[in-house]
Amino acid sequence: MHTSRRHFIILAASVASTAVLHNESRAAAPELSESDPTAQTLGYKSDATQTDAAKYPKYQAGQACANCQLYQGKPGDAEGPCSVFSGKQVSAKGWCSAYVKKA
Ligand code: SF4
Repeated sequence: MHTSRRHFIILAASVASTAVLHNESRAAAPELSESDPTAQTLGYKSDATQTDAAKYPKYQAGQACANCQLYQGKPGDAEGPCSVFSGKQVSAKGWCSAYVKKA
């Protein structure tokens, strides 16, 4: 009797923590800041037109997260997840030097 009650408590606790995890993954991730260390390393700008073209000569006008292979946002969304910056949202109009043109 005692053992099964303890088992129930453990089970209830694990179900509760699973529910919390689900809620967190559904909530919108925070927006990536340009001052984030990885963002700085990759020259991320939330507005692609602000990209330093002298520093990043591969940048071409028209390139933006929305048309990058690594962008996971839905078309039309202002921001979305990017596989380079997990747990953060990048601007659809942004750009970084990991840009890969969407096929
Ligand atoms: Fe934007 Fe692509 Fe850089 Fe991600 S990898 S921040 S989607 S340009």
